[in-house]
Amino acid sequence: MIRYNPKILRRLSRLLSDVQIEQVAVFIGQIDGNDFYVEDVLSAVNESCDTCTSFFVSNHQIGQLMIKAQRRGSMFLGIVHTHLRHHPAAPSQADFGNCKHAVNAVFHPSSGRLTFFDNNGVTLIQTIDTAPVRVFLPGLSSA
Ligand SMILES: [Zn+2]
Repeated sequence: MIRYNPKILRRLSRLLSDVQIEQVAVFIGQIDGNDFYVEDVLSAVNESCDTCTSFFVSNHQIGQLMIKAQRRGSMFLGIVHTHLRHHPAAPSQADFGNCKHAVNAVFHPSSGRLTFFDNNGVTLIQTIDTAPVRVFLPGLSSA
């Protein structure tokens, strides 16, 4: 089961507000058997060559983030990545295949939807609807 500190929702909205590229961040927290508690979110860098359609976080970067987490008394739990505004909010088939950490999630800034999924590639664990991230794009005005 995944539990989380509600403050992570605001942190995600702040860290992952760009709707034009896929962004990434890292969940850190505590592990107790099959229970995971997400305490906080650390910013990370999408190292993919094509940040409009995919994300990649190298083992080197994960290693550095693990050290950062340990310094704060936490453990690295997994990666959250965003989907662009015109892409579905739910995890893709590729996500199920690629995301194999303890806690994986997709955040869809345009709708504010955060979806946790597990690492066996099937089960959606939980979806949380947060406030959509307000984004102002050049040439678009909000009514
Ligand atoms: Zn995805």
